[in-house]
Amino acid sequence: MKSVSILGSTGSIGSSALRVIDSFPDKFKVKALSCSSNIKTLEEQIQKYSPEFAALGSIEPEIYDSIKKKYPRTIFFSGNSALSDIASEGADILLTSVVGYSGVIPTLKAIPKTKRIALANKETLVAAGDIVMNEAANHNTEIIPVDSEHSAIFSLLSEVKKDDLKRVIITASGGSLRDKTADELFSITPEEALRHPTWKMGSKITIDSATLMNKGFEVIEAHHLFNLPYDKIDVVIHPESVIHSMIETNDGSVFAHMGIADMALPIMNAFSHPAKLNNPFKFLDFSKLKSLSFREYDEKRFPALKICYEAGKRGGNVPCALNAANEIAVDAFLKKKIRFTDISMIVKKISDEADFIKSPEIEELIETDRLSRVNAEKYIRGLC
Ligand code: MG
Repeated sequence: MKSVSILGSTGSIGSSALRVIDSFPDKFKVKALSCSSNIKTLEEQIQKYSPEFAALGSIEPEIYDSIKKKYPRTIFFSGNSALSDIASEGADILLTSVVGYSGVIPTLKAIPKTKRIALANKETLVAAGDIVMNEAANHNTEIIPVDSEHSAIFSLLSEVKKDDLKRVIITASGGSLRDKTADELFSITPEEALRHPTWKMGSKITIDSATLMNKGFEVIEAHHLFNLPYDKIDVVIHPESVIHSMIETNDGSVFAHMGIADMALPIMNAFSHPAKLNNPFKFLDFSKLKSLSFREYDEKRFPALKICYEAGKRGGNVPCALNAANEIAVDAFLKKKIRFTDISMIVKKISDEADFIKSPEIEELIETDRLSRVNAEKYIRGLC
């Protein structure tokens, strides 16, 4: 029986993880749950799973006290450090499925106390990939990806020798706006951008998918997870999202990882690796598959991917600045303060102008993150 702590248990990945735990009650048990604001759902989860620990984020003191009284078997944390507090309690598996930079410090706190990090929070590796991967290696903690593309590549790479690998090919659905013209993108609304064609996800990642920033983040994530140079990481648009990613070997063979679009599968694999569990969910139905199509991404309409490649190649604190600027820009777009096409422009400007630090310490990344947010907000105020 493995204990599982979930950072972000009320979001879409967190809920899928609980579906996996429900399906394998003899293999996994919940140790800790947490939310940032969805207290109602978290309370239902606490009632059902009776976790040892729960983190409630920012919460009114009266509500906090009444919840604590209701569930005396659970130890509660609240406030800014609540995620780090439950991460520091350790577990066999810690699933980090929070959104954005907020995953970085809790992941670092968890590494010395946790056997395996099931990583769904890609921003952790975008902002602090070198530090996180080094820490994990120092403590013999496994980092297993939950992101569907990286889960696919992780499985495929276990089948080939590293020397035989020519490149990895990350597939992209292309997001909700893949067929829009440049003119249409200029006036796209948050409502339109939030309609993702294949994956049902939170609003931040859906906008990141629409700009292709998400795919750029995944390139940086792959660089850190698999220790690959950027010229061995390619991206192809594959609208059907049936192939979750591919690898190519030097002899010209291409291996594709296929499956249904359900995050429960990569979560199940991250929890059970190297064992393969019997899938209690759906299987791929080839009779319903009409075709698989592929196309190059359009750099002009979707500049974010190239911006991420450039930031990744510069390295140091640049991807951290890029991530911070993106969080601010996406939030401003959702609040209708800026245009869809402004997001990539702002991200490029703020990451290009960040004071470069080649091998930043974590304190320097925290400062890069803070300053980039301030600069992005200042710049957005000038645009409004
Ligand atoms: Mg993905």
